[in-house]
Amino acid sequence: MNHSPLWQETHDYIQQHDRILFSCCGEPSGPFVIFSAGIHGNEPTGVLALRNVFKKIVKDNLPLNGSLLAVIGNRSALTNGKRYSVVDLNRLWYDDNLNKLHTTGFAGHELNPDVLEMIKIDRVISDFENQASGKEHYFIDLHTTSAPSIPFAVADKKEHCLSIALQFPLPVVININEYIHGTMLNYFENRNFHGLVFEAGQHEDGMSVKKHESIIWLSLLITGMLKKENVPNYNAHFELLSGLNEDPHQQFEIIHRQELKTTDHFKMQPDYVNFQRIDKGELLAHLNGIPVYAPKEGRLFMPLYQSKGEDGFFIVQRVN
Ligand SMILES: [Zn+2]
Repeated sequence: MNHSPLWQETHDYIQQHDRILFSCCGEPSGPFVIFSAGIHGNEPTGVLALRNVFKKIVKDNLPLNGSLLAVIGNRSALTNGKRYSVVDLNRLWYDDNLNKLHTTGFAGHELNPDVLEMIKIDRVISDFENQASGKEHYFIDLHTTSAPSIPFAVADKKEHCLSIALQFPLPVVININEYIHGTMLNYFENRNFHGLVFEAGQHEDGMSVKKHESIIWLSLLITGMLKKENVPNYNAHFELLSGLNEDPHQQFEIIHRQELKTTDHFKMQPDYVNFQRIDKGELLAHLNGIPVYAPKEGRLFMPLYQSKGEDGFFIVQRVN
């Protein structure tokens, strides 16, 4: 177990609290927003950021317009500081499993700690949907990356979702769902939510907590949950995020994926940063001892610097 102060705080919080970080039911004419953090158990900073923001909202009695639920994702993996226990919980939400979740049930041999987490999360969300109502539905998922990274957003190409995402002063990647399947976005799309994913920075960087907090405050404003005058230090949050990247409000798309098999031995060249410009032919990594050169020029996206993962890296390009 990791004993850094950031992890210690996370463990203490999870031990003392249930899955629900915050919930409130508002007028049906308002927005309906669900936040999630820690669906990957090695990503504690979104949990701490949600805790901090909602603590402030409660303390200052800030008026929320609409219904809101904030949940902790993979509690058992977070407790152990592991990305997941047996299978990646953010790859389990594909249609076959959703059918098992809602209709047929899972067979005994299919149950493992991550599937059990999935069942519990679904129950919490379904219960909330039964008691709360709202107009536009938003799902906002907070993540971090293994490499150092500027904050960025992931959205789908549907008009409303993209227009919401582009209001954040961040680069927005628009076609990840063509490459990565079974994320919670799929579950929420089936329930008619607009899904947004935010990656704040590196997993255990204290600054990732701050960046997540700014993302949460702007999310509350942009979805219509909170009025601008009720967002504490609005300008500081906007400037923190916009000052960290060269491409605020710009769309990017994935043009290459380095896929990995579970048996592959993959090693990135050191010191790459997310969204870093790369040239065609540049040495990026070794795959089973064989050099991997960039097949295209562009920006390096999500280079893998942790032991678990299905993607070595992606290359993205700005959409004009
Ligand atoms: Zn993640």
